[in-house]
Amino acid sequence: MSTLRPVRGAHDLFPEQMREHRYVSDAARGVAALYGFDEMATPIFEYSNVFKRTLGDTSDIVTKEMYTFTDKGGDEITLRPENTAGVARSFISEGLAQSTPLKFFYSGPMFRYERPQKGRLRQFHQIGVELVGVPAVQADLEVIACGARILDELGVLDKTVLELNTLGDTDSRSEYRDALVDYLQGHLGSLSAESRDRLERNPLRILDSKDEGDRAVITAAPLFTDYLNEDSQTFFAELRAGLENLGIAYELNPRLVRGLDYYCHTAFEFTTTALGAQGAVIAGGRYDGLISMMGGAQTPGVGWAGGIERLSMLCGGALPTPRPVVIVPVGATTRDRALQLAETLRRAGFRIDLSYSGNMSKRMKRANKLGACAAILLGEDELLRDEATIRHMDSGEQEAAPLASLPEVLARYK
Ligand code: ATP
Ligand code: MG
Repeated sequence: MSTLRPVRGAHDLFPEQMREHRYVSDAARGVAALYGFDEMATPIFEYSNVFKRTLGDTSDIVTKEMYTFTDKGGDEITLRPENTAGVARSFISEGLAQSTPLKFFYSGPMFRYERPQKGRLRQFHQIGVELVGVPAVQADLEVIACGARILDELGVLDKTVLELNTLGDTDSRSEYRDALVDYLQGHLGSLSAESRDRLERNPLRILDSKDEGDRAVITAAPLFTDYLNEDSQTFFAELRAGLENLGIAYELNPRLVRGLDYYCHTAFEFTTTALGAQGAVIAGGRYDGLISMMGGAQTPGVGWAGGIERLSMLCGGALPTPRPVVIVPVGATTRDRALQLAETLRRAGFRIDLSYSGNMSKRMKRANKLGACAAILLGEDELLRDEATIRHMDSGEQEAAPLASLPEVLARYK
């Protein structure tokens, strides 16, 4: 096996893809800032316990998907598969309990050992927000509204559906869990091996199964909503009323779960049918049990994460390529002046590229290949007069202009 290729499921991001990623993350960062979420970053790796403790030994991520290694000092390290655990670790280790409410935005790479396919990578990128320290439903509403606004800003809100469910509080969930296990015990024969395996350890996650046999069983499974105690019902009713108040459309999906124990109340996903099987673009929920489970003071939280690759696919890709002004020095003696001029124009805010070598026709070809909006032809005679010839590439028009006037002549290309 040749090692001279990227690891399966990890990709180079060339300028075109990088622009698409930036387009998504810049838009998200900008909108999140309007909601008071400021950017922070946790390290890309953490001690493995950060994820093992929070994601639990039964989650897919921990059992199958983590990139874990022992470093030279003998510590067990994991490349982060998601960012909420890192934020919670930071909250505890950096003593942020006195600073709540905290509102963070993040953007960066995540790593999961998955079967690579369209919209599913081993190194992928997420944007996300976390609102820590607010138990009230206003936090859930703000978090969801921020996600919707970002999708709107990206022009894809109408390609998505907000799916909503409630997992209730701890009491409701454990009652529901019992009822679900009872029901599934009666249908063991029809469940997939994986789901049978999960029955004791993580039955809620079975609701999320994509296996056809499982799906048939799940259709008739008891519903969460029938097991909500009064507090949980009130919370959900307030959430729904709040979304309606904000004009945010949603669909109830009683099968939507977050597989992990520390999730409660709100669970939501913005999904699309436009990307095939990988339909979830943003997924989130309330995690009131997370920070205490990690050893911190009981602190509520709610947040979401969105996949940048999936979002940029949904945006339709192919953003306009930036068009430079290309300086074409004609003759060896003009090279130094060309470099000076490039510096001057860059300082004035122009995107300047250079045509480095070859005869005139080769240099113009390179200018075309770069998608130049204009070429500045620097001839020896013209330079003696401190002039250059400007070719406007789209119209083909040419004009002579004093070097000092170039910022004005080129103003439209800034
Ligand atoms: P899925 O059901 O698609 O596996 P998930 O429940 O594992 O998603 P989360 O952990 O909630 O996903 O991550 C939030 C978002 O991150 C997803 O909605 C998706 O957009 C994106 N995402 C998750 N895993 C991947 C991956 N392997 N490759 C690309 N994007 C991903
Ligand atoms: Mg997954």
